Amino acid sequence: MGAGLAGITSAWALAKRGWQIDLLDRRTEMAREGSGNALGILMPRISLGKNAETSFYNAAYLKALHECKVLKEKYPDFLWQQDGVLQIATSERIKKQMRQLDCNSDFARVLSPEASNAQAGVAINRASFYFPLAGYLSPRALCRHLIDEIAGQIKVHLNTRVEHLSQKDSTWSLWNQDGTCILKSETVILANAAQVRTFKETRWVSLDVARGQTTLVTATPRSKKISCAICFEGYILPEVKGQHLVGASFMRGDHNTEIREEEHLKNIHKLSNLFPDCFDFEIKNLKGHAALRATTPDRMPLVGPVADLDFFKTHYHELHHGKTNRDYPSARHLKGLYLNTGHGARGLCSSFLSAEVLAAQICNETLPVSETTREALDPSRFLIRDLKAGKYRKK
Ligand SMILES: Cc1cc2nc3c(=O)[nH]c(=O)nc-3n(C[C@H](O)[C@H](O)[C@H](O)COP(=O)(O)OP(=O)(O)OC[C@H]3O[C@@H](n4cnc5c(N)ncnc54)[C@H](O)[C@@H]3O)c2cc1C
Repeated sequence: MGAGLAGITSAWALAKRGWQIDLLDRRTEMAREGSGNALGILMPRISLGKNAETSFYNAAYLKALHECKVLKEKYPDFLWQQDGVLQIATSERIKKQMRQLDCNSDFARVLSPEASNAQAGVAINRASFYFPLAGYLSPRALCRHLIDEIAGQIKVHLNTRVEHLSQKDSTWSLWNQDGTCILKSETVILANAAQVRTFKETRWVSLDVARGQTTLVTATPRSKKISCAICFEGYILPEVKGQHLVGASFMRGDHNTEIREEEHLKNIHKLSNLFPDCFDFEIKNLKGHAALRATTPDRMPLVGPVADLDFFKTHYHELHHGKTNRDYPSARHLKGLYLNTGHGARGLCSSFLSAEVLAAQICNETLPVSETTREALDPSRFLIRDLKAGKYRKK
């Protein structure tokens, strides 16, 4: 459920394993919400820790690069520009990463202000991280090509909103708002971003939203010299068809998806601080895209089976008393129901590997990530945290 990056990569990963897929979306076209931006950046997520988050995002980045390369070879018109990405040192956190990160130079390089200017094609006069293998792509084109890849094994049901689920024996039924059963299946993946919380089976899931809006800015002869994606407090992409995509606002907890003039102005303001002489801003009739990112408290996606809430509450409530070493029974899940959501601001990086992890779990294969990383993706991690905090304490 959900024809965005998470749902489509999940469908693709299972179809490669021989499955037949029904893909459902409430919209009349695929990739119209979080994945509906004209262009997005595929870049690594830098972190200094040696933990599951770092291993997941590093592996996810390499996996996404690989899959984009394969698709580009097969579909030469696929808009995937691998020109590298510059991340200007705008915060103490990034400056610290620059001092301490020790990695292969294909992954990340630290550039002086002069070298940054040369790489950017325009003057930015600041030190930056440069990610030579990163770039920008069209998320919608990516989704379309993945669907083309599995055309014989997928049926796409658009304009199909799932209102609720029910399970009888081992079969799930998906229902619309008129009480009509849309379809039945033994295996269901909820990849409908933050909307997973509308179902009673997954209402407990820890997800929030962060609204984002991008703005299209008309290119000028000076701005056309921008030769790679540049991230600062926002980001700007090189000119495509006479326009630059500038992003993006980040409004935590804001569920509205109307285009807002003031957010266009904020995007432009950040841009003009960095490039005071590059653009002739036409403030009228600005265009862009606004949508919601589904975010998690620890910035890792939620990928895996859905916990049986009653079972967890009954058998693990003692966790609240600090009894973490007790011999607890193995976790029980709702058979056949899975989640793939919470990709936040990095869905282009995280989707492919997440889909691969999920497909391997569903098919009982060896996982492509370590057990620690699987646990760090497990949707029930926040349920355990809540049980420890006494949220589900017995009255
Ligand atoms: C402004 C903005 C800029 C971004 N820029 C970048 C970027 O540069 N790089 C990057 O990596 N990431 C970026 N992201 C984040 C990235 O786009 C997301 O992480 C990714 O698109 C999430 O994909 P998804 O499939 O989980 O969600 P979505 O694309 O939102 O897909 C969920 C789908 O579920 C459907 N749905 C919901 N409820 C139901 C229901 N009840 N029944 C049926 N269908 C339903 C929706 O219609 C939707 O199509 C950006 C996000 C925003 C908003």
